[in-house]
Amino acid sequence: MFNSITKERVFRVLEQVMDPEVGRSIVELNMVRSVEIENSRVSVEIALTVRGCPLAKTLEEDVRLAVQTIPGVSEVIVKMGTMGPEELQRFVGQIKARHPQAGTEHTRHIVAVGSGKGGVGKSTIALNLALSFLKLGKKVGLFDADIWGPSIAKMLNLRDMPTALADNLIEPLEVFQMKVMTFGTILRENQPVIWRGPMAHKAIEQFLLDTLWGELDYLIVDLPPGTGDVAISVSQLARIDGAVLVTTPQEVAALDVRKAINMFRSMGVRILGVVENMAYFRCSRCLEKHFIFGKNGAQTLSDLEHVPVLGQVPLDITLMEAEDKGFPFMFNVSENNEAYSALLNIARNIYQIFEPTH
Ligand code: ADP
Repeated sequence: MFNSITKERVFRVLEQVMDPEVGRSIVELNMVRSVEIENSRVSVEIALTVRGCPLAKTLEEDVRLAVQTIPGVSEVIVKMGTMGPEELQRFVGQIKARHPQAGTEHTRHIVAVGSGKGGVGKSTIALNLALSFLKLGKKVGLFDADIWGPSIAKMLNLRDMPTALADNLIEPLEVFQMKVMTFGTILRENQPVIWRGPMAHKAIEQFLLDTLWGELDYLIVDLPPGTGDVAISVSQLARIDGAVLVTTPQEVAALDVRKAINMFRSMGVRILGVVENMAYFRCSRCLEKHFIFGKNGAQTLSDLEHVPVLGQVPLDITLMEAEDKGFPFMFNVSENNEAYSALLNIARNIYQIFEPTH
């Protein structure tokens, strides 16, 4: 008897089945390994990218339902397998064809944010700089490369892990269309992180180069404090177009930051300037500026190292609270706020360095 169930027909319905993670047809992604038809019984073999894929059950069900829509099908057998190296390569090739922008090749400016020591607000500046560039209409990525103390995840209330599409392809997280990669959601909270040298380099390499950053105007990299290996890894794996150093007004922080400035210089990285964070506190009663941590730390540093002061950010309770609760400060505060304007101006100053004609 003439069998109306053909392989072509099965493939046609399978074309409508999407890989739940990638959001593209499983046929297009070469995930359909085989289709066998025996009278009214259809067997389909699907190859998954990773063994024990958590979405395997969903996919299996979607395949079954799709094939069952073909008139005359009495039984659908779905076999789930795992891709071999060649299949995986083809899969990655397909994804890359759609997103030709894995890695940092399509990033116009990579800006590293460093500091002499921890606790000066380096991550705060990195995050709000990224948000300020978003406000200025730029395409932005934020890479939290502070592998020992990643704080961006908490500051943005991120809980999901970035999606590994395949072994060397990662879909970053997204906040307000800003691409974000952080170790914060993959490391356990409150656990000390121990990285052996080569492991740290490998992790930075993966997060920097396997990530589908897409086309970016600015990729902001939040480096660990001090003068460590991570900065060297980043500068070896991608070009750092400029470094921003964050300091507090105290002399001691300024001296620490001089070492960091010299590290960047020795790597041939241009110093864009210094940001003085927690520069002062404006009292809401007397409206005076109070220089709690001293005065002119950034200016002293600027004179000593011949680097510009990009801006001074005051101590601001709403900024601290926003970060504590995981709200993006730049999108949750009045435009009259002094910290807001200072941060936006720092982004503008950097923008002027890179694109002086605007
Ligand atoms: P670092 O990255 O240098 O270790 P963080 O950015 O994590 O420092 O900041 C340390 C703490 O100080 C955080 O709780 C942050 O919210 C707070 N903080 C940073 N800058 C400011 C500021 N200008 N006003 C108020 N709080 C700030």
